[in-house]
Amino acid sequence: MKLKDFPEDLQPHLLPRPRGRMVYRCLDCGAEFGIDHLFYTCPKCQGLFLLVDLDEEQLKEHSGAFWRRLFDYRRMLHDPAVQGAFCFHELIAPVIPAEDIVYLGECHTPQVQANSRLQEEVGMTVYFKNDGQNPSASFKDRGMAAALSYLNYLIRTQNLTGVLAICASTGDTSAAAALYAAYLGDKVTSAVILPYGKVTPQQLSQPLGAGARVLEIPGVFDDCMRVVEALSEHYHVALLNSKNSWRIRGQESYAYEIAQWFDYDLAHKVIVVPIGNAGNITAVLEGLLRFHDLQIIAELPKVIGVQSQHANPVFTYYLESNPARRVFTPVVVQPSVAQAAMIGRPVSMPRVIRLAAEYTRRAGEGSFAVVEVTEQEIMDAMLLANRNGHIACTQGGESLAGLQMALKTGLVKKNEVAVVDATAHHLKFIGFQQMYFDNTFPSEFEIIPKPEYQNHPQLLIPESPPGESPWSEAEQRIFTQDMVRQVAAVLGLKPK
Ligand SMILES: *Cc1c(COP(=O)(O)O)cnc(C)c1O
Ligand SMILES: [Zn+2]
Repeated sequence: MKLKDFPEDLQPHLLPRPRGRMVYRCLDCGAEFGIDHLFYTCPKCQGLFLLVDLDEEQLKEHSGAFWRRLFDYRRMLHDPAVQGAFCFHELIAPVIPAEDIVYLGECHTPQVQANSRLQEEVGMTVYFKNDGQNPSASFKDRGMAAALSYLNYLIRTQNLTGVLAICASTGDTSAAAALYAAYLGDKVTSAVILPYGKVTPQQLSQPLGAGARVLEIPGVFDDCMRVVEALSEHYHVALLNSKNSWRIRGQESYAYEIAQWFDYDLAHKVIVVPIGNAGNITAVLEGLLRFHDLQIIAELPKVIGVQSQHANPVFTYYLESNPARRVFTPVVVQPSVAQAAMIGRPVSMPRVIRLAAEYTRRAGEGSFAVVEVTEQEIMDAMLLANRNGHIACTQGGESLAGLQMALKTGLVKKNEVAVVDATAHHLKFIGFQQMYFDNTFPSEFEIIPKPEYQNHPQLLIPESPPGESPWSEAEQRIFTQDMVRQVAAVLGLKPK
């Protein structure tokens, strides 16, 4: 739709108009720093940042109804600056002008309702939100769109040259970072640091294809993270891990889209997300709280975080019911099929602690919880989902298994409506499916494949092997008849 055809009162607001005064605010000491530098941790106390718009109160000059209308109408405007996360420009990064916004087709991913067979099996209404349908096939593109738009803005306004973007990754962050950096051409080069042997071949192929420098180091993600943290302290690099608070801003779009899908009625809804480095759960909690602040939503949904038993520091932290007695202790991770979430020292934990307390204060006891699932449950849930028409990855399976666990323990009720985060595309983690089918999981996974979920291709051998090609017409006919007969026999087809 053309701008002039939109309701007149909305026309002046549809396109981004840079506004606001954004600062990094330290979660520990409260110090604020301008955004003319890319900061990750507080120079005063090493605390973690969240971005704040000092003028956010001004957004309250408009009603919740105004914002709902604006965001909905924006979806009909074909301008890259209001697609994707930046449909919610005022809440993502209001200081960034349209010209710097990078849009590669991320966000507004499909929210697909499970068929009746799967909903019956689970015992409630369930949607999958398919974040694997983002450009690099995971939700990481949401945060990367915001982080790279900001970097693009910084490069233009400060005439920066030779910017090197760097990240540690369990696979998907590096795929997203390399893709968005590649789009910015000569302005940014990217380097990614991966735990050797701990990302899937598909994930490894992504930054290689996008032209990033790919460096592998022995160890797990937590080891890589320590390296990039030290690098960003001592060298001129732009850190693209979720320590970078711009990524959190972009990932808030996930919560906004769920609200938008339900026409902003989040009463009796449940949002289920897997937790690794805890950036995603941070963004979901913060996004919902901010939508609630602006009265865009009247009710806060339940938020359930899910961890594997093999990487469960956040679950363990919340096991202690008395907040005053909780102590965060990193864990040493064990191999997990939810490899993208196989993290023992989640960088965003201080953010989660802060936001979850505020969320519970506002939405009530039980509105935020973390559950734990086994590797077996993750694989079984992924296959159950995909056998009903979804494209869930292992982390998507983890979300569904977590919902099943939350139902079993009474955290979630049957009459609620759940949205399960399928954080990446199934195809990125296909090796784990193959191990399940072949029953070749190393013993530490403790996975025993269920025969009803296993599947193998079946090769049909011609009875009389055809001669050298090109075949004569007669040979071709014999071959086809032979195969038809064999296929019909295998499938038990009835003759007409
Ligand atoms: C990064 C990632 C996660 C974990 O998200 P965090 O923000 O690190 O908690 C889960 N699933 C997939 C597919 C991911 O790429
Ligand atoms: Zn500080």
